[in-house]
Amino acid sequence: MTDELLRVESVDKSYGDERVLTDVSFEMDRGDVTVLIGPSGSGKSTMLRCVNRLTEIDDGAIYLDGDCVTDADTNVNDLRRQVGMVFQDFNLFSHLTALENVSLGPRRVLGKEKAEATQLAREQLEQVGLGKQLDSYPAELSGGQQQRVGIARALAMDPKLMLFDEPTSALDPELIGDVLEVMRDLVDQGMTMLVVTHEMGFAREAADELVFLDGGKVAERGPPEQLFENPQHDRTAQFLRRLT
Ligand code: ADP
Ligand code: MG
Repeated sequence: MTDELLRVESVDKSYGDERVLTDVSFEMDRGDVTVLIGPSGSGKSTMLRCVNRLTEIDDGAIYLDGDCVTDADTNVNDLRRQVGMVFQDFNLFSHLTALENVSLGPRRVLGKEKAEATQLAREQLEQVGLGKQLDSYPAELSGGQQQRVGIARALAMDPKLMLFDEPTSALDPELIGDVLEVMRDLVDQGMTMLVVTHEMGFAREAADELVFLDGGKVAERGPPEQLFENPQHDRTAQFLRRLT
């Protein structure tokens, strides 16, 4: 019995004639933070989307907690219940308050009573620093606050794994820090997180491993110290030089 939570094994993925992922492999133990980095178009979002079956792989396999998630007969709703996803553009329901956005999943998907789901949502929102904005609608919140609602919404489902796809890329610079702070709290709590970000400060301090995707291939992976201080490939060095 290992503590492995996610195993991505030789994944290939094309859109039509365009090969987007080639032989991508990496593993995460429970509690690990892995940061996927790479140029625009290198397949980072596609890789995340394969993990919760928002898109289908062509070859290889992905395992979550020992179960193959890429089998045709996998229950996709069951899978998505275990994997929280946070998107760049928040994806909140505009006609629902923060509290309603967060309690919806526990009510509809987990079948919790209204009072219990509401209490759970309140606690999640307090945890991301939004205890005073429970009844606000998305349009009344800043981008950073909306993203924190998005994180609370994913956490309310008590996921085994959290996926983050450039969670701060749509935010004004002064709002990025609050979202990163919430993510650091999650790291401290031992959440297993697979994160796509260009925030190299976060990657450096929070990641157990960086995976550098280039042209849909894993060009290099290793602890942040290795990639930042002693990259094994020129492409890694070039990419990081441009960002830091
Ligand atoms: P990244 O997140 O690293 O910027 P993506 O995974 O979004 O990269 O995209 C990788 C490549 O796949 C890009 O060339 C993109 O145009 C293409 N792509 C992504 N999603 C689709 C899709 N749904 N249909 C067709 N091509 C897509
Ligand atoms: Mg992307």
